[in-house]
Amino acid sequence: MLTTLEPHLTDFTGTVITPDLPEYAAAARTALVEAAPDIVLRPRDITDVQRAVRAAAASELPLAVRGGGHSFAGLGTVDGGIVIDLGSLDSVEVLDGGRVVLGGGATWGGVAEALAPHGLAISSGDSASVGVGGLTLSGGIGWMVRSRGLALDSLVSAQLVTADGETLTASRDQHPDLFWALRGGGGGFGIVVAFEFQAQQLEAMTFGTLAFPAGETAQVIAGWAAHMRQAPRTLASTVRIADPFAGGVDAPIVITVAATDELAEAAIAPLRELGTVSSDDVRRRPYLDALEPGMTLPSGLRLTVRSGFVPAAHVDAALAEVAAVASAPQPATIALHSLGGAVSDVGVDETAFTHRRAELLVTTFAGGPAAAFAGVRSGVDAVWSRLAPHTDGAYANFLDDSSPDAVASIHPEATLRRLARIKATYDPGFLFSGTPASAAIANLGADEGER
Ligand SMILES: Cc1cc2nc3c(=O)[nH]c(=O)nc-3n(C[C@H](O)[C@H](O)[C@H](O)COP(=O)(O)OP(=O)(O)OC[C@H]3O[C@@H](n4cnc5c(N)ncnc54)[C@H](O)[C@@H]3O)c2cc1C
Repeated sequence: MLTTLEPHLTDFTGTVITPDLPEYAAAARTALVEAAPDIVLRPRDITDVQRAVRAAAASELPLAVRGGGHSFAGLGTVDGGIVIDLGSLDSVEVLDGGRVVLGGGATWGGVAEALAPHGLAISSGDSASVGVGGLTLSGGIGWMVRSRGLALDSLVSAQLVTADGETLTASRDQHPDLFWALRGGGGGFGIVVAFEFQAQQLEAMTFGTLAFPAGETAQVIAGWAAHMRQAPRTLASTVRIADPFAGGVDAPIVITVAATDELAEAAIAPLRELGTVSSDDVRRRPYLDALEPGMTLPSGLRLTVRSGFVPAAHVDAALAEVAAVASAPQPATIALHSLGGAVSDVGVDETAFTHRRAELLVTTFAGGPAAAFAGVRSGVDAVWSRLAPHTDGAYANFLDDSSPDAVASIHPEATLRRLARIKATYDPGFLFSGTPASAAIANLGADEGER
């Protein structure tokens, strides 16, 4: 099958990695998932991406597109297929007025580092090694989420290579339907080779963690949520509970705060009154220092992640369940993100990310050796049998599989149908099929075929 690729790759100037080469093992896997693709293509520039897309389209092999390679579901690699790895397209170009153009394979750490000397930052996520591509195309919840919105809310335009190998630009004025789909619909509409963002002025932030004893979970998380509901939007905050690697039921509750102005700095103080503070490292630091390095999962281990958006009316009940779940042994770290603020300034239908009215995002992270993974997963299922009734929809970036049940929770049906129409225009042959939305659109077609 690879021979069908060769005529299309004659002029390819990037790196071609096949299983016989020593660099294959590292190139085949992503940060979290091991796989065995037939070939990994690392384009050097946009023309190379076009060549790689045409080669993939001419073959009958499944295609995976890799940005930063941090998808929990391992969407950046594929068994027995082609990987287009955008890692070399990691440029950061600063234009006038805080406009910034990022290569499709840039990572947020590289971006933060390049923007720091300009006093600029983009609302992104919490980890340096996560890709701009995957995070932005499905949302982007980070330390400026309440003041500046999701990463995708700062997107001004995107340059794509589409399934026919041509390039186009999507923005509010050009291909607005596609621009809508790119902001929340995931990567299944083409390869974004350049993202244009509006960056924000940000020299530093007041950032750090406050820890409390596990025994105070119920009071601390209820007080945290009540405080964040009326806090200035320049304060972002998350809570981490029951981390199995920090003691499970005895693990401290960790509140992380990120304040981008003085009003928000003042709003941190009441959080210290929520319980018995056992550690406090909140201080002013550069935005880059607020990003965790990220990770590569050791071989043989597996991770599972699940999430749910919590509407305001369900917050009290959801937090009561979280506290109850965390008080007994179970396999997951439970994380809470406070949303609202700029996220909910945007209309539900304005982008393909529709969970604009949620007050919180609750997420579970659990892992273990592949051999014992079924037990971990059933433990997590038990947690979600209690949390799910209080949630409405899930976050595409915190999804570890593309099964119909899992992806059905990402997009409401009307959004999915609109995405399906746009997919039919820009990728009718499902070349870019390895995304949750593509899987959900395919399920939609299959369901209709069965009727
Ligand atoms: C350690 C860690 C920390 C995280 N922290 C956060 C966080 O704070 N906030 C948050 O919102 N999320 C967070 N995430 C989730 C993260 O946003 C998703 O895993 C995201 O999909 C990763 O993007 P990526 O480009 O690195 O991954 P990849 O696996 O490369 O890509 C993910 C998907 O996006 C597609 N894609 C990527 N780039 C492009 C492109 N240029 N054009 C077209 N399609 C593309 C891929 O084809 C794939 O379908 C975190 C994940 C990890 C592992």
